[in-house]
Amino acid sequence: MFLYRVRLFSLFGFAVSVDASWLVLAALVSWSLAAAVFPALHPGFTQATYWAMGIAATLGLFSSIVFHETAHSVVARRYGIPIRGITLFIFGGVAEMEEEPSSARGELLMAAAGPAASLVLGAALLAAASATAPPPAAAVLGYLGFINWVLALFNLVPAFPLDGGRMLRAALWLWRGDLLQATRIAATCGRGFGLLLVVFGLFRVLNGDVVGGAWSFLIGMFLRAAAIESYRHTLAGRLLAGVTVGQIMTPDPVAVPADIPVARFVDEYVYRHHHHWFPVVRDGALLGTVGTREIATVDRANWARVPLAGLLKPIAADMLASPNTEAMEALRRLRRGGQERLLVLQDNELVGVLALRDVLGALAVREELVPP
Ligand SMILES: [Zn+2]
Repeated sequence: MFLYRVRLFSLFGFAVSVDASWLVLAALVSWSLAAAVFPALHPGFTQATYWAMGIAATLGLFSSIVFHETAHSVVARRYGIPIRGITLFIFGGVAEMEEEPSSARGELLMAAAGPAASLVLGAALLAAASATAPPPAAAVLGYLGFINWVLALFNLVPAFPLDGGRMLRAALWLWRGDLLQATRIAATCGRGFGLLLVVFGLFRVLNGDVVGGAWSFLIGMFLRAAAIESYRHTLAGRLLAGVTVGQIMTPDPVAVPADIPVARFVDEYVYRHHHHWFPVVRDGALLGTVGTREIATVDRANWARVPLAGLLKPIAADMLASPNTEAMEALRRLRRGGQERLLVLQDNELVGVLALRDVLGALAVREELVPP
């Protein structure tokens, strides 16, 4: 979802970051405010004033989104849902949850906190605007008040994973007691609303509003994809509940002895099994990994003499699991680390590997056993 993230500061213990894509949005917003919106709404200022207003309003927009996401995060923490941080990206902001909420009540309050915060901030800004004397400052405050209300209302649309959709899901979950069914209904609304935005965007493009139309189109596509992905994630959580890594891993993995030369490693392991990297062991104990990237640093003429042990790469904690690790937790580690396999250790002995393929296979067969 993110291109390149920069961490800015910490707020109430939550790390606030911006993705490079947010800078594109910020530049677009400043430009359209300075060149079109403010001159049309408040004629008579100089171009330099319009630019100052545009930049001030963009900074205000940034703070408004951070305020909204912080409200979500504070309530989430109160209900024991770990938040990794707040990130601003091209479609707004997101408080990154490590796990799904475990109670409907927690989810309802957490989802409601963001729009509520935006409504209150919007009202405060509009009040400040009517009490402020210099016209450019009043115009910026008034604009930000309006934007906070738009932010609240858009997020209240009952289209999962928007806040309103999360509230709908929580309400259905409270009422019927079935999280998966609640998610399915809320995500269907999310896909429908996404489609509506896509069609509306196309309509606007055909009517000559290319930038605004493209924007609706992209937000609609993003929302549809997010609704589908969120439903699949909840379904995976249901299907893999109680399943451990030991039940779905590939046991007895290919492991390379540390004391062979590079040439033998390439012939007997890389060319035979076609993995990009392998675990390396000595007397059953895992020492590290070695892969094609490390081998490429050695001159081919020396392959027969250089021992593998000197090229080992240490293993990050995120690459490891135990047979008792929950399958969903393993799936999170695989996705987060972007690595192809987890190494499964029991008493420091390598007993298996778990590839994303193994988890997806376990999911697929379990899904086929669910009655339609
Ligand atoms: Zn929100």
